[in-house]
Amino acid sequence: MRVGVGFDAHQFSEDTNRPLVLGGKRIEGSRGLEGHSDADAVVHALCDAILGAAGLGDIGRHFPDDDPDLVGVDSTVILAKVVAMIANAGWMIANADCTILAEEPVLGSHLPAMSERLSLLAGAPVNVKATRAERMGAIGRGEGIACFAVVLVEPDGS
Ligand code: MG
Repeated sequence: MRVGVGFDAHQFSEDTNRPLVLGGKRIEGSRGLEGHSDADAVVHALCDAILGAAGLGDIGRHFPDDDPDLVGVDSTVILAKVVAMIANAGWMIANADCTILAEEPVLGSHLPAMSERLSLLAGAPVNVKATRAERMGAIGRGEGIACFAVVLVEPDGS
């Protein structure tokens, strides 16, 4: 077995029309995050943890943020590609655990749906939880949202 860790952060967008997408789910009633893709920090952290566990580098290496084909891309498409990449390398995900850091919006009611969607995409249990930074630092001032992810992978025996 191997373990990998991922981290990602995005600042809130000035564009009030930009939707907030986290964990593959659109969350209504909140400012969106700035980014080249849909800025889904949860999926990005998860992808980095998966690639790290399989020893395949990181998301920026495989999906560069200056690639015009990736403008506004649904990050779950990238996640599906990452899962396929590690399968090609002989690995499957055992489980994953994500911690979102967000002062706002309140995410508790959205976490089960994120977990369900990400578990389907990963083919393994993905736990998603959220916490606040208690007003400390950039995240605590509500300037953006960050996410940590840890993933365990095991050899694909099939
Ligand atoms: Mg990102």
